Amino acid sequence: MEYHDSDRARELAADVREFVDEVVIPVEREWLGDGPVPDDVIDDLREEARDRDLYAPQIPEEHDGLGLEFRDVLPAFEEAGRSLLGPLALRVDAPDEGNMHTLEMAGTEAQKDRWLDPLVEAEIHSGFSMTEPMQGGGSDPKMIETTARKDGDEWVIDGHKWWTTQGSEADVLLVMARTDPDAHPYQGCSIFLVPSDADGVEFERDIPHVGGAFRGASHAEIVYDGVRVPEENLLGAENAGFAIAQKRLGPARLTHCMRFSGMAQRSLEVAKAYMNEREGFGSKLSEKQSLRYDVAEAETRLHAARTMVRHAAREITSGNEARVPVSMAKVFTANVVQDAVDLSIQCCGGNGIGKDLPLADFYENVRAFRIVDGADEVHKRVIARDAFEDVDESELDPVTRFRG
Ligand SMILES: Cc1cc2nc3c(=O)[nH]c(=O)nc-3n(C[C@H](O)[C@H](O)[C@H](O)COP(=O)(O)OP(=O)(O)OC[C@H]3O[C@@H](n4cnc5c(N)ncnc54)[C@H](O)[C@@H]3O)c2cc1C
Repeated sequence: MEYHDSDRARELAADVREFVDEVVIPVEREWLGDGPVPDDVIDDLREEARDRDLYAPQIPEEHDGLGLEFRDVLPAFEEAGRSLLGPLALRVDAPDEGNMHTLEMAGTEAQKDRWLDPLVEAEIHSGFSMTEPMQGGGSDPKMIETTARKDGDEWVIDGHKWWTTQGSEADVLLVMARTDPDAHPYQGCSIFLVPSDADGVEFERDIPHVGGAFRGASHAEIVYDGVRVPEENLLGAENAGFAIAQKRLGPARLTHCMRFSGMAQRSLEVAKAYMNEREGFGSKLSEKQSLRYDVAEAETRLHAARTMVRHAAREITSGNEARVPVSMAKVFTANVVQDAVDLSIQCCGGNGIGKDLPLADFYENVRAFRIVDGADEVHKRVIARDAFEDVDESELDPVTRFRG
């Protein structure tokens, strides 16, 4: 399919595809059914990605990345997503990819030296700690209860978070907390860079979950009990937490879409290969009209999703916030990818469930995408508000673009 991506974007994507096919997928196949894949295996893949000049394409050159524009990295993210190991190899894996973007966008030079550069090199890892248990903020982040209060030249953080991806492995946690209890939360929260070994950072548990068997990160429940960080660990301006989060989440939602649409492409490739081989009832499965129509439908919807993601990415690259296009792309892609993986499993019969093929691990991983970075219903709420024109621009905060 021709998407009129730039020459640079297409060249990089072709090189990433070759790398994934030649190097990443053979390693993936070795570990299927036998995960989790150990760190040294990932380190070797990263080394090979560096040698091929494919490493960290989204990171500016001054921080040792390839320095591509957002829309130009898109096809490479898709190609990387064809294996669960691809994003890790290229250092475009969540949540570090989104956290690196946040640091690059909002961090001071000292913060970038301390955390961004080692993150790019994969010497350290990070977590984004925003969602809270039942009484706190989840889909409705206005309910956030974690607080940070100033005490001399330190901030003192108290709160309870869960589902912090990679929380247990992280060296630094980006923690969202209320800093002005009198303000609306969208104008009264800030993000802090909290070293995971700081006094008062208490790891309660890794939440058991589906999808972690092959190469799953932890999803940690963490209590912040009087955690003290110096003033210079405030990320961006005081009370600008949601403005920064919004700038992080728009692109991060699209990079998730890109990686997952690569997963859907590979799923359909695997299914079609099986269907071209397997015969029953007098013909190949690939000749059965009902299956052919199902695959045709999945290919059509995937093409639509990839087009929507490119549109939203172009808007963001042009400096637009693109909230509605991002929400449309996110909710549509999440469902298209989930359906494509499910169909691919169906077409492969028992082998779809077995771990000789990557489909079962894809299936375990894809379900969360309809929930993370905004559940389907939350994005539909954004789209519906726009559709019914019940957003009065004058009511929106000029910085956060949230309604007060
Ligand atoms: C694998 C995984 C990784 C995650 N990683 C992180 C992370 O790194 N950092 C972090 O801070 N959080 C993370 N999360 C948390 C994630 O962001 C939240 O789960 C998500 O925002 C939904 O919040 P909640 O779970 O509290 O659901 P709730 O807010 O309790 O909502 C439950 C369900 O209600 C429905 N719903 C909600 N609002 C509406 C509405 N207005 N109208 C209709 N229906 C509605 C939706 O279907 C939603 O799924 C992760 C979650 C998962 C599963």
